[in-house]
Amino acid sequence: MHQELTYKLAQCCSPKAGEDIIGYFKEDGTVTVHRSDCASVQQLRLERLLEVTWSEIHAAEKTTDIETEDSTFNKLDDVDYLILKHHQEYGLDYSIVVSEMLGLPLEETYDHHRKLRELGGLKRVEKRMIQYRKNIVKGKWIKHRNHTYYELTPKGDRWIHSFEAKTETVSSQNKGVKRDA
Ligand SMILES: [Zn+2]
Repeated sequence: MHQELTYKLAQCCSPKAGEDIIGYFKEDGTVTVHRSDCASVQQLRLERLLEVTWSEIHAAEKTTDIETEDSTFNKLDDVDYLILKHHQEYGLDYSIVVSEMLGLPLEETYDHHRKLRELGGLKRVEKRMIQYRKNIVKGKWIKHRNHTYYELTPKGDRWIHSFEAKTETVSSQNKGVKRDA
């Protein structure tokens, strides 16, 4: 059976793909990857040194990424989707406006903004970088300060696509059911 390992590239020699490498196995299941000629490898305990290949390191990274992405996506609900869509359409915005436009209680909007930021689908935008924001209602550029602005991240954008792919699958399945009936 193959044990689940986490690989970390050592800071001392920061090995690059293709270079000769060696792994040092730690108690917690982490393998620190060094260049074979790294000086600090000489001081490590021999019985913990492992042969490692770049292909197994890359395979492990891929698995971890996919799992993390899927499990965070499953934590999202329909309101999260609406909020992500809002930011996709209007760009950066703050909770009060999002709450008004989506007709959500403000507290709830704060909670969702916080949650989406913690999961990585939105990011906070530094206030000093913002000078003007387009007023959605009047189409004028007005100055805003003292708000926490949020903006969609590439991850949030992928979630929108995942949501829409999921919805499409469901509606085409429904059509299929009707046709059969
Ligand atoms: Zn090293």
